[in-house]
Amino acid sequence: MEKAELETKFEKVFGAKPEKTFFSPGRINLIGEHTDYNGGHVFPCAITLGTYGAASKRDDRKLNFYSANFEDKGIIEVDLNNLVYDEKDNWTNYAKGMIKFLKEDGYDIDAGMDIFIEGNIPNGSGLSSSSSLELLIGIICQELFELDTERIDLVKLGQKTENKFIGVNSGIMDQFAIGMGQAGKALLLDTNTLEYTPVPLDLKNNVIVIMNTNKRRELADSKYNERRAECEKALAELQTKLDVKSLGELDESTFDEYCYLIEDEARLKRARHAVLENQRTLKAEKALEAGDLERFGRLINASHVSLEHDYEVTGVELDTLAHEAWKQKGVLGARMTGAGFGGCGITIVDKDCVEDFKENVGKVYEEKIGYAPSFYIAEVADGTKVLD
Ligand code: ADP
Ligand code: MG
Repeated sequence: MEKAELETKFEKVFGAKPEKTFFSPGRINLIGEHTDYNGGHVFPCAITLGTYGAASKRDDRKLNFYSANFEDKGIIEVDLNNLVYDEKDNWTNYAKGMIKFLKEDGYDIDAGMDIFIEGNIPNGSGLSSSSSLELLIGIICQELFELDTERIDLVKLGQKTENKFIGVNSGIMDQFAIGMGQAGKALLLDTNTLEYTPVPLDLKNNVIVIMNTNKRRELADSKYNERRAECEKALAELQTKLDVKSLGELDESTFDEYCYLIEDEARLKRARHAVLENQRTLKAEKALEAGDLERFGRLINASHVSLEHDYEVTGVELDTLAHEAWKQKGVLGARMTGAGFGGCGITIVDKDCVEDFKENVGKVYEEKIGYAPSFYIAEVADGTKVLD
């Protein structure tokens, strides 16, 4: 969306032009899934699908929120002095969390705001529209109140909002990818240290196709927390003999040697995924840097297999998409992306094969699942920014 169109939309709702306009991307993760809360590496990038925002300060202490994606809710009014979670306030809880935690950190947000937002990320499909929204609110506050925030502060407050305000126990990956993203680059992030390397994503004649199962991620949050708990327990078992702080610190051979300490088969599989997926992520980054896209693709496929059989977070919808994708001409690799349990997958495919790819995979999926998937081409974008 162009800046002028966004300004006009804001004006229709709030009666005057906004002070500033913004864009916050969504994200995909190329590889390194369910490793971010296990002290491992992730390899995500920000995408051109995202959330647009326009905002102005007010003279009073009212926060007026309007989302074009939730038109039926109209303007939702929140008191700046009363930033507490309330289910009936719907999506504005994400905004309330961000503003509350910014204030708690001593940032001076001393007036209300009018905020218009409109996103084109399908909500609840694993492209992290929630983190996109959190970072958008973060940058709005930073710009309107001239706050002296570093980008990494907003990233951490986004995660805090998700964990402590919304109650989803997610890792740092989503907010990091969205806040720190760079056009044309994927970020290799060590979630233990938050050190990261932007890596040029040169896919030659290939593009990234996002495959949306169009299945909402049911049970995602409870299963997510269950996986976290299983990994924590497996780590504790390993720590009886090993001096490590996270599963991400283990290489394959150390894991092989000590995995006998894990007394339950399910936990053994979860830990094996966390350890091997982290190693695969490091290998995938090297393959990409060396221009070995075939190997990069094979590692992406192996990631899906591990998420399907060891971590058990895929489900028939994501499996159907990945398995069918693997059979198609011009495909280098395909896997689920994000937390799983529905949501989206990604495929790296020759751009001349995209139309056949969509038709063939779409047909098999619809026959098997009963409704159609959606496909989007993902362009790799900059992180959250002011529009000019
Ligand atoms: P995901 O982050 O995978 O898209 P979540 O369930 O974590 O899924 O977040 C989706 C929620 O984020 C929505 O239900 C809504 O509350 C909020 N949200 C995201 N984008 C928007 C938007 N454009 N307008 C209003 N709320 C949004
Ligand atoms: Mg989310």
